[in-house]
Amino acid sequence: MWRKRNKFVSLLLLFALLLSGCSAQSKSAEEHTAGVFAMGTYMTLTAYGESAEEALTLSENRIKELEALWSTTDENSDIYKVNHSGGARTEVSEETAEILQFALDMAEQTGGSLEPTISPVVTAWGFISGEYNIPTDEELTDLLQNTGYEKVLLEENVVTLPDGMQLDLGAVGKGYTGDIIAELLKEQGVTSALLDIGGNIQMVGRKPDGSRWRLGIQNPFGEGSLGVLESEDGAVVTSGNYERYFIGGDGKQYGHIIDPSTGYPAESGLASVSIIAKEGRLCDALSTAIYVMGLDEATEYWKENEGFEMLLVTSENEIYLTEGIEDDFALNENFSDMEIYVITR
Ligand code: ADP
Ligand code: MG
Repeated sequence: MWRKRNKFVSLLLLFALLLSGCSAQSKSAEEHTAGVFAMGTYMTLTAYGESAEEALTLSENRIKELEALWSTTDENSDIYKVNHSGGARTEVSEETAEILQFALDMAEQTGGSLEPTISPVVTAWGFISGEYNIPTDEELTDLLQNTGYEKVLLEENVVTLPDGMQLDLGAVGKGYTGDIIAELLKEQGVTSALLDIGGNIQMVGRKPDGSRWRLGIQNPFGEGSLGVLESEDGAVVTSGNYERYFIGGDGKQYGHIIDPSTGYPAESGLASVSIIAKEGRLCDALSTAIYVMGLDEATEYWKENEGFEMLLVTSENEIYLTEGIEDDFALNENFSDMEIYVITR
């Protein structure tokens, strides 16, 4: 089910790169950018063409609205209300109900690798406050009692969350936002845009010159990017414990993605997971869940579920690509020692 890919740039991609390099930038659409700080991260929205400027202003406002609904700290947000409901039925907006339904569905589908109620555990490790701490086994066992997506009840737009539990849409919120903003831009007549939503990439169409977007895949072991992935109209989201971690008193590295079955940071043998799909929400949910699963489980999951591709970097310095993107990825020269394997159906 895995085969080795030629390490060097595939001929197809090389050909495409040459072509795009030669083609004169005939249609030079005007570029507009907007920077937004929201959802605890910096977002850069770049859109092209006549309707871009106004569409970006609308996008900024929309992002602020979504943040106000899903924030865990804003006392007026839907999520805050649910988290402080003491177990009572709580009405939420349609958008919150939608994203929550999606998160619960994905939690079920990934066998609980995505766990939207993992927040008490994330908090105990200090990833929210920045005051890092290694909880004891007993503490973790206790905290895990207050997690479990199957205990969350969602009926239409009414949420019932058992007292003591906490919802956090952090692992899917940015991806969902990407989908909503891409849709908004298209409605406003934008045909080419690149949204960087705190590292989540969402693309509208292709580049203004008609070629595909060229995205750097971050080196999870240090500086720079491993290579370039070509893609269009959809999303690419990467998760890894290299993004946010601390070194414990024991000298070990502890990362912010938690394995919900143990309460400990996931150590699945993967250094990073990039998911490529039409929908940002799917990419975001799966990048976190598949990081928890590890290579073997991820391979099984991909075979059983359609609609997404993955690029996995293992802790052993190898790259695994699913066959749908086999020809879309090229290693950078300084990483040419990495082996590339292709996952096939
Ligand atoms: P980021 O948002 O930092 O780019 P992710 O999309 O992978 O990265 O989301 C990770 C965040 O989600 C963590 O910071 C934590 O708050 C929360 N989280 C950690 N582990 C899980 C998990 N197994 N399921 C759902 N959310 C998680
Ligand atoms: Mg995610």
